[in-house]
Amino acid sequence: MAKKLNGTVIVTYRCNARCNMCNRYKAPSKPEEEITVETIRKLPEMYFTNITGGEPFIREDLKDIVRELYKKSDRIVISTNGFFTDRIVDLCREFPQVGIRISIEGLERTNNEIRGLDDGFNRGYTTLKTLVEMGMKDVGFGMTVQDKNAADLVPLYEISDKLNMEFATASLHNSFYFVESNNIIRDRLMVAENFEKLINRLLESNSPKKWFRAYFNHGLINYIFSQKRLLPCDMSFDTFFIDPYGDVMPCNGTKEKEVMGNLKEREWDELWNSEKAELVRKKVRCCDRNCWMIGSVSPAMHKYIWKPAFWVLKHKFLFFFKKKKYSMYENRIVRDYLDGKVTKEELDACSTCESCGRKN
Ligand code: SF4
Repeated sequence: MAKKLNGTVIVTYRCNARCNMCNRYKAPSKPEEEITVETIRKLPEMYFTNITGGEPFIREDLKDIVRELYKKSDRIVISTNGFFTDRIVDLCREFPQVGIRISIEGLERTNNEIRGLDDGFNRGYTTLKTLVEMGMKDVGFGMTVQDKNAADLVPLYEISDKLNMEFATASLHNSFYFVESNNIIRDRLMVAENFEKLINRLLESNSPKKWFRAYFNHGLINYIFSQKRLLPCDMSFDTFFIDPYGDVMPCNGTKEKEVMGNLKEREWDELWNSEKAELVRKKVRCCDRNCWMIGSVSPAMHKYIWKPAFWVLKHKFLFFFKKKKYSMYENRIVRDYLDGKVTKEELDACSTCESCGRKN
């Protein structure tokens, strides 16, 4: 039996938000060229599917897509900005098992400033609360941490914790997907301090899932200091992305779009085992972009489970009597930065930010 894969389906590049870290809204897809249910039918069996955009709920046929995907996927999570409350609630009535992650970029003022959506915070928050009241089990926040909103990280976590919701984090990335190449964290120590606080809150909890989330956030500190990924990246081996045009790609982190084949034109097995797909896999093996996004990290955390497990064991149990279980200074690069052994300019040059010197 073929191995089940982890897939991300980008159903549209249209978006109603105007986030400061993503220019995708400037390069939307046209409705008539977007992936159809017929093409989605050709996808392989998946143990996990993320549906994303743009803003997926802009598509009025999203329910048909989800219905089709449930025929081949064990678990589906939709990432959304939560603006279209009625459409989200309607979909959740039909699929109460679906996961919903609403991107909220900070407390009210910060969120609305970053997202460029009038009343975006209240719309997103109302959607979240409505879903919880409906009894939806798999609901949560997603936050992309940057200089502007880092101070809201722990307060937002606290809101999600009170509502018994998942709290997913990310930081700034540059790639073809975001149509952006100049994202960068300016005040690394301040942002890392806020991650450190969150990591300690997660480690204090009694939830093993949160302890592993603490490891993910530790990886984000490592990422914003432009260091090598903590875990290998195996995108395109058992994980794929498909965009609104039907192009199958390894991930959404590359500078230019890397295409393994087009699913409108070919069948899945032929595409997945093609020479073109092998060439992309070779590129992935040499990729030095060191992304740390949940789409590429979650499969790696499952595959190389002993690494995060050892980290959790150390911080949760060996440091049992320590008041503060995690310190960002455990990362050598943070110590070196504070001691002046590494400069801001040197770290900037190692990041994927092109205005800081990176060319590929
Ligand atoms: S590190 Fe992995 S996820 Fe990031 S661009 Fe490279 S292959 Fe893609």
